[in-house]
Amino acid sequence: MNKHLEQLIKVVTLDREIDGMEPLILQKRSKLDKMLKSKESKELLIEQINEEKNDLQLRYNQINQSIEDISIRLEHIAAKNQEVKSERELRALGIEEELAKEQLNKANADIATIEETKAQKDSQIQNLKDEITAIQSEIKTEEEAITGEIAAIKAEQEKLFAKKQEIYATLEQKLAVFYEKIRKWAKNTSVVPVKKQACGGCFIRINDRVFGEIKQSNDIITCPHCGRILYIES
Ligand SMILES: [Zn+2]
Repeated sequence: MNKHLEQLIKVVTLDREIDGMEPLILQKRSKLDKMLKSKESKELLIEQINEEKNDLQLRYNQINQSIEDISIRLEHIAAKNQEVKSERELRALGIEEELAKEQLNKANADIATIEETKAQKDSQIQNLKDEITAIQSEIKTEEEAITGEIAAIKAEQEKLFAKKQEIYATLEQKLAVFYEKIRKWAKNTSVVPVKKQACGGCFIRINDRVFGEIKQSNDIITCPHCGRILYIES
């Protein structure tokens, strides 16, 4: 085989190995990413519940205000009760008092419900906070566990990269430029073997003439269909 092509194949193989390590790193991080996401969603939920609590507080204040108003009204009714002279006025006041007391009962019941709901939301928030604390410690453990593993993968990647650079430096300049041009679009399938007389990149059949040229292997031959560099696997 053409010596330059042989070197190029080594470069391609190393490029492929280096890139193949990226998903490994992502995979190592996937558990941690899930934990971080779960923590984030719990934090968001706490924010949401706090907003609901604020709304409840507003409603609570409104009802408290109306309880004060009703109390004042009841005092007025009681005062008027001392002054009434006719039976009719007395009845009218009685109805008014009845109504005010009903409103007061309703308001007090609403306040009790709001307090109960607020307590529920407080305990929801506490639970979420406890869960977050637990996740945080899991996150720390996971981070410690994978930091070393990822560093090891990256170190291996750098080693391969250095090796590739070394071979790459000895590559014929023209061929190196040509390879980079193809690599821009074909990535790790820029240099592919011919399989069953078809290009290993686009899988289209190579005609006998080109196939013969590749077999002679004196030159760098590209696929007439896609432009990838072709070689015969030994
Ligand atoms: Zn092709």
